[in-house]
Amino acid sequence: MVIAVYPGSFDPATYGHLDVIRRASASFDKVIVGVLNNSAKSPLFSAEERVNILKKETADIPNVFIKSFCGMTVNFARDNHAKVIVRGLRAVTDFEYELQMAQTNRVLAPDIDTVFMTTSLEYAYLSSTIMKEVALFGGDLTNFAPPATIAAVRKKLNQ
Ligand code: ADP
Repeated sequence: MVIAVYPGSFDPATYGHLDVIRRASASFDKVIVGVLNNSAKSPLFSAEERVNILKKETADIPNVFIKSFCGMTVNFARDNHAKVIVRGLRAVTDFEYELQMAQTNRVLAPDIDTVFMTTSLEYAYLSSTIMKEVALFGGDLTNFAPPATIAAVRKKLNQ
């Protein structure tokens, strides 16, 4: 049984994240999405809200589980008996940071491997940050995230 963790901020999860989750769920027995609870990043949504959004959007995938975590990804992976950390790669701009993180995690936990999933082309431009920027200016979010997530973003920005 190969368990993978997919850590990130997911503030909120976009179609790009959901695509990685769906594809990872086909390659691993169990995928545990780890929502990083890091107040230093001052997210739009609380960790609990980000977990709930992801739970709703992945409810149809039986081997995907959503949890929040604090601290280091390798500890989250170990606590969940995961041997694999999944990350998404969109463009060369992601590469340097992701490589450094993967190598650091390898030093910290040589028994855990990082596996990169390249983004599907239609989501290569997409990030939570871009989505929030478009939302701030009232732009159309249809191509960025499912309807329930879009509604949550609009509601949050109106508060
Ligand atoms: P973090 O703050 O850890 O980068 P994010 O929520 O921004 O958290 O991203 C989590 C992971 O998902 C990262 O590996 C990121 O590269 C990946 N990711 C984000 N957007 C996309 C996308 N559109 N396609 C593929 N992977 C993505």
